[in-house]
Amino acid sequence: MSNLNRRDALKLFAATTVSIAATSQLSAKDIENNKDIKSKILIVGAGLGGISLAARLRSELPNASISIADKDETFYYQPGFTLIATGIYTSGDVAFNKADYIPDGVQWIKHNVISLSPTTNSVTFENNENYTYDYLVLATGVEYDFEAIDGLSLDDIVGDTNISSVYVMSSAVKTNDLMQKLADNGGKALFCEQKTAMKCSGANKKIMMLSEDRARLANNRDKVSINLYSGTSTTFSAPVYAKVMEQIFEQRDINYNLNHQIVAVDKARNTAIFEHSMKYKEDGQNKVATEQVEVKYDWLHVVPKQKASAMYKEAGLSVETGDTAGNWISVTKETLQSNKFKNIFAIGDICGVPMGKTGASIRKMYPVVARNLIDIIKGLEPSAKYDGYTACPLITKYGKAIMVEFNWSGKPAPAMPCFGATRESYINWFIKTKMFRSMIMQGMLRGLV
Ligand SMILES: Cc1cc2nc3c(=O)[nH]c(=O)nc-3n(C[C@H](O)[C@H](O)[C@H](O)COP(=O)(O)OP(=O)(O)OC[C@H]3O[C@@H](n4cnc5c(N)ncnc54)[C@H](O)[C@@H]3O)c2cc1C
Repeated sequence: MSNLNRRDALKLFAATTVSIAATSQLSAKDIENNKDIKSKILIVGAGLGGISLAARLRSELPNASISIADKDETFYYQPGFTLIATGIYTSGDVAFNKADYIPDGVQWIKHNVISLSPTTNSVTFENNENYTYDYLVLATGVEYDFEAIDGLSLDDIVGDTNISSVYVMSSAVKTNDLMQKLADNGGKALFCEQKTAMKCSGANKKIMMLSEDRARLANNRDKVSINLYSGTSTTFSAPVYAKVMEQIFEQRDINYNLNHQIVAVDKARNTAIFEHSMKYKEDGQNKVATEQVEVKYDWLHVVPKQKASAMYKEAGLSVETGDTAGNWISVTKETLQSNKFKNIFAIGDICGVPMGKTGASIRKMYPVVARNLIDIIKGLEPSAKYDGYTACPLITKYGKAIMVEFNWSGKPAPAMPCFGATRESYINWFIKTKMFRSMIMQGMLRGLV
């Protein structure tokens, strides 16, 4: 690993200044004009999206009634889970009290919502209390379904097994142990991804690439077999980054198997079972043939299937057609307003949009939702647009990362072009490991950046 050189430090300073200035807030005059707004706004979910939005709304609507509902008292800085799994952070580095971040003047309702009635503008909390709102923002993130893989449960992920997932904090700690065991003793590791939408879809690859690097640093690379099994048909949704990934995998002898969806685990035989899909044409018709493939492992790392709470489907708020029918919230992808109820918005992982399941996306979403919500309250059409910005600092080795950033076009959209859109560099590693957490915890969650 190298240190940050003077030239990179100057570039970093300049880029950070530009990036902070780019997320400017309303002027004092505009806020003054909003003083008459006394609407009752409920945000469901006090995670990254919910708290950032609450902070921005609190400063822009000084007299509105803003509440946020969530029973969980701990905020997890989830991008830090990959750094726990790679031995850089400890679990103490990612857990924070929500009470220290929910803004003054925002009422925290310490109950989860269990059902919604958009036609009567009300929700029900788990204590069966009803609550009415004028405007509602849904920010409950994803739910994990490890059990969608036959033979697997959350207990296997967190318990004393050779299976882990960076998506669960305690299992991120376990992942670090299993990674070290692999580097010390050698063996075969499988890194499995879902074909359906995943938050931070790069997380599994980060663990995989750092496992490869750790084995190499331990002089045991020749004893280790590293294998990606993905249910998707490409290594990355954005084509440029797919190419970058494939080059890295080839250079570093990482085997990648696409269209391989993990469907079952036979723990007694240390065997994962995949459904391998093969597309073909017959008589001009598109068809898919499938076969089952069994692969032995010494360490199995899995990404869980991810979904929205069932309460949204029951309330008629979900996407209705296509692959994601009945799952994510149906919103207009640019305005993040519900396609069914004008006084409802969604933010973060819960949104039924083609991209955007990253914290970096939320950084672009929350000013959009705040602006559009205020527009709607004033009887205007939503004026702000989310451009699909999705980003992931992809750590590729100890001391190196690529800043993956793209938008609806799928093309690179670097916030700091001076560092290169596809280049592995120490500065990107520095930003990921030393800067992002403070930016999120002290900037975004305060509604400032
Ligand atoms: C391993 C991993 C690595 C990641 N790496 C990166 C990265 O490098 N860069 C990046 O930008 N992003 C990364 N992410 C993604 C990022 O963390 C998420 O996109 C982001 O946290 C999503 O925010 P959210 O507000 O939508 O959901 P969350 O932050 O998950 O918050 C949802 C909140 O809703 C609450 N809730 C749930 N159900 C209810 C209910 N019924 N009623 C009330 N409250 C409820 C929960 O308690 C929670 O507080 C990573 C994620 C993981 C797991």
